[in-house]
Amino acid sequence: MPTLFTTPLLPRLHIRNKDSITLRAETCMSFRARTHKFSATFSSDKHPLSTTQSKHSRNIRTNTELAGELALDRRVFDEIPVSDKHTFAWNNLIQTHLANEDFDLVISTYLQMLLRGTARPDRRTLPRILTASWRSGDIFIGKQLHGHALKLGFSSDHYVVTALIEMYGRLDSVDTAKWVFEKSPQRNPVSWTLLARLYIKQNKPGLAIDMFNQMVDSGDEMDSVALATAVGACSILKSLQQGRKLHRIAMKYGLEFDALVSNTLLKMYVDCGSIKDARAIFDRMTSKDVITWTALINGYVKKGGFNEGLKLFRQMNMDGVVKPDSLTFSSVLPACARMAAHKHGKEIHGYLLRSGINLNIMVQNAVMDMYVKSGFIEYASRIFTRMKDKDVVSWTVMIMGYSLHGQGEQGVHLFCTMERKSSMHIDQVTYAAVLHACSTARMVEQGKFYFNCIKAPKVANYSLMVGLLARAGLFEEAKIFIEEQKVGRHTEVLKALLHGCRNHQQLVLGKRVIEQLCDLEPLNADNYVLLSNWYANGERWAMVHKLRETVRDMGLNPKKAYSWIEFRNKVHVFGTGDVSHPRSERIYGELQCLVKKIEDDEGYRPNPDFSLHDVEEERECIQIGHSEMLAISFGLITTQPSATIRVTKNLRVCRSCHDSAKLISKTLGQEIILKDLNCFHHFKDGFCSCGGFW
Ligand SMILES: [Zn+2]
Ligand SMILES: [Zn+2]
Repeated sequence: MPTLFTTPLLPRLHIRNKDSITLRAETCMSFRARTHKFSATFSSDKHPLSTTQSKHSRNIRTNTELAGELALDRRVFDEIPVSDKHTFAWNNLIQTHLANEDFDLVISTYLQMLLRGTARPDRRTLPRILTASWRSGDIFIGKQLHGHALKLGFSSDHYVVTALIEMYGRLDSVDTAKWVFEKSPQRNPVSWTLLARLYIKQNKPGLAIDMFNQMVDSGDEMDSVALATAVGACSILKSLQQGRKLHRIAMKYGLEFDALVSNTLLKMYVDCGSIKDARAIFDRMTSKDVITWTALINGYVKKGGFNEGLKLFRQMNMDGVVKPDSLTFSSVLPACARMAAHKHGKEIHGYLLRSGINLNIMVQNAVMDMYVKSGFIEYASRIFTRMKDKDVVSWTVMIMGYSLHGQGEQGVHLFCTMERKSSMHIDQVTYAAVLHACSTARMVEQGKFYFNCIKAPKVANYSLMVGLLARAGLFEEAKIFIEEQKVGRHTEVLKALLHGCRNHQQLVLGKRVIEQLCDLEPLNADNYVLLSNWYANGERWAMVHKLRETVRDMGLNPKKAYSWIEFRNKVHVFGTGDVSHPRSERIYGELQCLVKKIEDDEGYRPNPDFSLHDVEEERECIQIGHSEMLAISFGLITTQPSATIRVTKNLRVCRSCHDSAKLISKTLGQEIILKDLNCFHHFKDGFCSCGGFW
C-alpha cells in the first residue's frame, strides 16, 4: 500500500463543502520557497526515466527566471475574463505547459489554481498533474496528488485512477500500481493494458499475458491496444502457442485486420520463428504500411531467406504505395551482404542515397556492415570516417571488419582510439570484436586482457581465446586454458584448436582433436572427412577407404565444396572438378598455363594439408580442379588485368589453393579477394592479408 503525504511539497487541501477549497495557512507557502524546492527536485539526478532526463535538464531554470515566467503566466491568466476563470481555462493552461514539457510550470499553475480557489480541479486536471509528476520523476508530489484525488472524490474515476496507476508503475512499483488498480471499482481496457505494459517493462511478459486473460475472462470490453500489447508479450516470450491463441481471440472480436493488431501479430509470428504464418497474415492484409513490409522483410532476412527478403523489398518499391524508411533499409541490407552477387548492396545503397531518407546512425551502420561482409572494407572505412556521430555499434562493426579482412592490428588500434576519444559504454560485443582482432593479429597479451574484460564469456569467446593461443603456437597454454575453463566438450572450441594445429602442422595433437570431434558429434560427416584427410595427408590410403565406407554405411553426406564469382550481373558457380561451365576448356587451359608459370618462376610445389572437404574429389583434382581455382581462372579470363577478382567459397580454402593464389597475384600483378568460411583473404604481390593463419 502506498504511503501518502510523506513530504508536504503541495499544500494540504481542506474541503469545507462541495465547491469550496481552502489551503491551510502554514502549508500555503510562498511561491518562491516552493518553487525553489521544486526546482531542486528537477536538478537532482534521481530521475528513473532516462529518456526524459535530458529534456528535464533543459527545464532547469533559476528562481529569478521561474518567478519571471510565473508572473507572466499570472498576467496571461489575469487577462482571462472572470466568467471564464473556471476549471476549463485552468486545464487548458496546464495542458499547454504539459505539452511544452514545462513540468515545474504545470505544478505551479496547479498550485495557483488551488491558491485562488475560484475553480475546483476536475477529473481532467489531476491526470495532467500526475503525468507531470512522473515525467519529472517526483514520487512525493505524486503521492500527495493521490491524497488530493481521494479528498476531491475522484478515487473511482477511471481517468484519475489510470493516471495514478501509471504514476505508481513508473515511479514506485508495479505491485503498488496493481494495488491501486484492484481498489478501483471501475476497470477498463486502458487500465488493464497499462498494467500489462508495466509488467512487460519489468521483463515479466508472462504476467502481462495473465492480465490480458483475466481481462478477457472478466468480460470487459476489448480494444486493439489491449490485444496488441498481449501479442507483443508473446513476441518477447517467443510463445507461438500463446500467440496463436491470441490470434483466435483477435478473429473472434473482429480485430484481426485492425492495423495495429495485424502488424503486431505479423511481428509475433516472425519473432516466434513461424515465417509461414507471418506471410499468411501479410498476404491477407488489405492495407499494409511501412511497418508491415519491414517486419516481413526483417523476418525473411533473419531466417536466412535473403532472396525472399530482397524480392519483397523490390515488390514494395514496385508497388510504390508505401515508401521504405530507415528501418526497412536496415532490415534488407544484411541480406545483400550474404547474396552471391555484390550488385544488390551497391544498388540499395544508391537507392538509399537518392531516396533522401535521413541517414541516421542505424542505417549508416547497416550500410557499413554490408560493405564489410561483401568484401569492400575500404568503402566501409570511408563511411566510418565520414560519420559525424558514431555509436558503439559503428565502432564494433569497423573493429570486426578490420579483423575479418586480416587487419587485426588496425582493429585493436581502432578500439584503443574508441576508448581514448569517446566516453561511450563499451559493451560485451565490442570486447568480443577486439578479442577477434587480437586473434587475427596474434596479439596474445592484449587478447588475454580483453578476454578478462568480458563478463560471463560465451562459448564463442572461449573459442576465440583458444584460437588465439593455438595460432600463436602456444598449444600447452591452450590445453591448460581448455581444462581450467572446462570447455573441452564444445566442438567450436576444439575446431579453434584444430585450426592452430593445421597452421603449425601439429599432426599428433590434430589427430587427437579430430577423434574427440568424432566422439562428440558422431553423426557429423565433416568430422570423418577431417579424419580421412588426416590419413590422406600421411598417405595411409587403406584407412582413407575404410573411413569412406564407414561414412557411406552410416548414410552421411559430407559437404560439397563450391566457389562462385560474379560476372556481368550473373553469378557463376563452380564445384570441384567442374566441367559444366560453357567456357570450361578455356578455364582449365588458363589454369594449366598459370600453374606451369608459377612452378617455373617461383619454384612452386603443391602443398597438401588435411583441410580437404571431400578427399576423394579434391585429392584427385588437386591443384587445378578445386572450385576456388576454377572461379579464379574464370575471373582472370573475364576481367581487365587491373581489376580485383572477388571469389567466395562455401568452405575453408585449402593450403594448396592459398599458396597458388598468392603466387598468381604476384605473377600477374592482379589482386584477388577470396572470402571463405572464416575470413577474407586479400592476395596481393605474393602475400595474403591473413598472413598464412586462417
Ligand atoms: Zn583448394
Ligand atoms: Zn589468406
